[in-house]
Parts: sequence; structure tokens; C-alpha cells
Amino acid sequence: MTDNLFETFAQRMGAQADKDFIVTPDGRRYSYTDALALSARLAGALKDLDVKPGDRVAVQVDKSPEAIILYLACLRMGGVYLPLNTGYTTAEVGYFLGDAEPALFVCRPAAFAEARSIADETNCPNVETLGTGGDGSLMDLARVAHPFESVEARDKDDLAAILYTSGTTGRSKGAMLTHGNLGSNAQSLTEAWRFTADDRLIHALPIFHTHGLFVACNVVLMSGASLYFLPKFDLDAVIEAMPEGTSMMGVPTFYTRLLQDDRLNKDLTLNMRLFTSGSAPLTADTHKAFEERTGHAILERYGMTETNMNTSNPYDGARIAGTVGKPLPGVEIRITDAETHEPVADGDIGMLEVRGPNVFKGYWRMPEKTKEELLDDGFFVTGDLAQLDENGYVQIVGRDKDLVISGGFNVYPKEVEQVIDEMDAVDESAVIGVPHPDFGEGVTAVVVLKSGAKTTEAEVLAALKDRLAKYKQPKRVFFVDSLPRNTMGKVQKNQLRETYKTIYD
Ligand code: ATP
Ligand code: MG
Repeated sequence: MTDNLFETFAQRMGAQADKDFIVTPDGRRYSYTDALALSARLAGALKDLDVKPGDRVAVQVDKSPEAIILYLACLRMGGVYLPLNTGYTTAEVGYFLGDAEPALFVCRPAAFAEARSIADETNCPNVETLGTGGDGSLMDLARVAHPFESVEARDKDDLAAILYTSGTTGRSKGAMLTHGNLGSNAQSLTEAWRFTADDRLIHALPIFHTHGLFVACNVVLMSGASLYFLPKFDLDAVIEAMPEGTSMMGVPTFYTRLLQDDRLNKDLTLNMRLFTSGSAPLTADTHKAFEERTGHAILERYGMTETNMNTSNPYDGARIAGTVGKPLPGVEIRITDAETHEPVADGDIGMLEVRGPNVFKGYWRMPEKTKEELLDDGFFVTGDLAQLDENGYVQIVGRDKDLVISGGFNVYPKEVEQVIDEMDAVDESAVIGVPHPDFGEGVTAVVVLKSGAKTTEAEVLAALKDRLAKYKQPKRVFFVDSLPRNTMGKVQKNQLRETYKTIYD
């Protein structure tokens, strides 16, 4: 018996045989049997390309069923799957190839020439292509390869994947995830969210990020469910898929966009049993509006590249808006003083730390950073500030790096944002700290108005006057058409801080 995660998947997949594993809107389909067979062919192709167990396979391709089966093929033959954000430029990819030193880089067919030259510069020996229609040189190799029908022996501590973090707070770091990390989390989520072979998951997330790749696909593989695989989030396509789906995993922007469409109602979502949200905070307003419109309380959960999922609202029981629920089975959390790592008093805000079989092995080639964030007692310092409510549910207050320290006082941006967002004219806001000659940092609000609404800086400031202590009140308010967000719907506060960095000079 091996601890290779593929072994577990293969057992579940084998049991589903001719059932749909992945179906796409343009009518492409892989049954579980098809997927197992292609995983063996692709694993054979990887071996022909001299990829050895433990070698990294870097992949920057558009979303397709074959890309997921390539992930399975990597697991199967002991390779380390390393997906890259499709938005990265060639220069950025060069950094990742130099850092990860993969044995193979799989790119989009149209990017081959550029990929080849960046691979040469970084000493990556092989470049192959994978398209979205089952095309590409890797698929050609798989067709003629001798299928690798067995499963490479792996320990639970061996690497299954390296996933780079989103780079929200700085340069992306490569999180080393083991077979044990991925398997334990997939198992807990499958149970916690009651996934079974009867499920059909509407999949509209990218597959280079932990949410769309591990949370969504691993849960489906564990339970023998089916994936309805959309190339990306498209409002019409998601609405069209809803009557046939049973579940959807989304980022908060999926839900705000669905709510803007009148077709979203109870009838449309009759067949759906579960909507989950994560990767960025879901506002209590969105949670409530969605429940009013559809009768479904979105289940919010919290996780990150380094740990997969840590906490979740319950399947049965209260899903509390504005919280991310309780620790998943086997996951321990503590809320600590960021300097001493000593637990704070009950209910106080502090650094959220997590420990469990889901917690990664460390950052790839960053021993110092790993030592800082992965403590000797096994707790990982998430960088998120949190507090526990009276029911033991975790509330994420924001990121440690987004905390504003003005005149020596801590200002939690979320608290200020919530008050601004309550104004009738306001759609959403982001509060940041920017250098200020007197206060160290000046609290600064960047506000998006509802379409057609009007207000002024003075009006916003007046509305906050009696609601927030003086030190929490923004010194300036700026209006923008939209907040900068990445593909996972995360507001890019680094960018905002850069834009407004000289306003108090
Ligand atoms: P980097 O670590 O490179 O700065 P990142 O932290 O954005 O980037 P990810 O691992 O993709 O990279 O995101 C994890 C983070 O996303 C968490 O630390 C947390 O800040 C945020 N997050 C995830 N789920 C939630 C949630 N439900 N509510 C609030 N924040 C969430
Ligand atoms: Mg992070």
C-alpha cells in the first residue's frame, strides 16, 4: 500500500466506471474510465520525457479537462504538479521556472516559441504544449506512449504539488504540499460538505489556484461526483448550468454578479444543494441577499494555498454571515499575539495560527521564511487577523499586513469599510493606510459608488463622524469606478497603497 493520493483517487474513480467525471458546455466528456486511461497515457508520456519522481512539472495552460488529468498523471508517476497563473507574463514565468527548476514546462500551443526561449534561459530541458480541445504536443506524445498503469510509491510526506501563493502581500511563494496534505483535506471536505457520487459541481473557477484545483477537483475525485467544467465564470453559462447542477464553489464576486441578475431566484436554484464561498471575504450583505433571493445560505469557508481549507461553516446548523465557521476535523486553531505567539484573551483580535495534517511542508527554497511562519510546535502563522465569536465561529478581520497603525492606534480596515458600505450611495470600499508625516499612517478610504449614486468626500466623512472613533476616521476619501481585484476576487490593497502613497506628503 502506498500513500500516493492517486491510489485513493483511483479506487474511487474505478468504482464510477462510465459515469461522467468531466463534462464541458461544448459537449466534451470524460468518463471516470476515460480519465483513468488518459492519466496512464500522460504518465507514460511524462516518463518518456524523463520526468522522474520528485521532479516538478510546471504547467501554464488554459482550463481544460486534460489539464486536470495531467495533474492526476503527475500524482500517478510521482511528479510534483506545479500550476501557474495563466495571467503571468513570460518574464514572470521565467522567475517561476528559475525558482522551481522543473523537468518539464507545459504551455499553451500559441506560447510555445516564447516558452521555449524562457525555458532555455532557465535550463528547463523540455517544453510541450497542451490546448483546450485535447490538442497539443503532450497529447500527441500521450497517444503513442506506453501507458504507465501502475502507481508510483509515495509517502504521505512526499511532495504532490507546489502551488504559488497569489502574491497579494508580496512576491508569490511556492507552497510545498504533500500527498498527505491534499488527501486529508479532500477527505474532510467531502465529509463536511456531504459530497457523493450524485453531485454535479458547477466549476467556473480557474484551476491554477487551490480553490478551483484542490478544493473543487479533489472533493469531486474523492466522492465520485461530476464536474461541469466552464472555461471561466460567465454569468449566462452559470445560470444555464444551474438547473442541472447540485453545487457550486465560488469566490464572492460570483455571488455579487449573480445577484445583479433577475434570473437568479428560487426556481433556478431548486436542484442546487450547496453554494460555497471563499478566497476573499463574503460580505454579510451578499450572504443575506443571496439567502433572501434563493433560500440558500452560502456556506463560507476559509483557507489558503499553504494549508488548503482550515475552517468551514457547518453543512447542518447555522451558517453565520460574516464568519468562516469552525475548524475542520483534525485542524487546530489558536489566536495569538503576533509577537509572542501566546493566545490572546477570549474574543480578542489576534493572529490566526493553524495546525493539522493539512498544513504544508514549507516554502520551496525559502528556509528563512518557512522558519518564521511555520513554528516549531507545528502551528502555521497565517498572516490573517481573526477573533472568535460567542459561538466559537471564526471571524476574519483582515490581513495583518493591511492593518493600519495611525498615531500608534490599530485601525482594522474592515470595521471602517463596513460603516462606509452602509451608506446608501456606496457600493463597496477599501480602507488602507498610507504614509503620513504626523500619524505614521493615514487612514484612507477608496470608495465605489452605486451606479447613478452621488456623494462627496465631505458627506462620507460626515456620515462616519458619530459612528467611529476619531482615530479610525479616514483622513481622505477617494472615489473610483472599481476596486482593483485579481482573478480570485481579492482586492489588491498593495496596488491601492502604491496609487495613493504620496497624498499626505
Ligand atoms: P500571498 O500569500 O502571496 O500574499 P494570498 O494570501 O492572497 O497571497 P492565497 O493563498 O490565494 O494567497 O489566499 C489566502 C488568503 O485568502 C488567506 O490568507 C485570506 O487572507 C484570504 N481568504 C481566503 N478565504 C477567505 C475568507 N473566506 N474570508 C476572508 N479571507 C479569506
Ligand atoms: Mg497568503
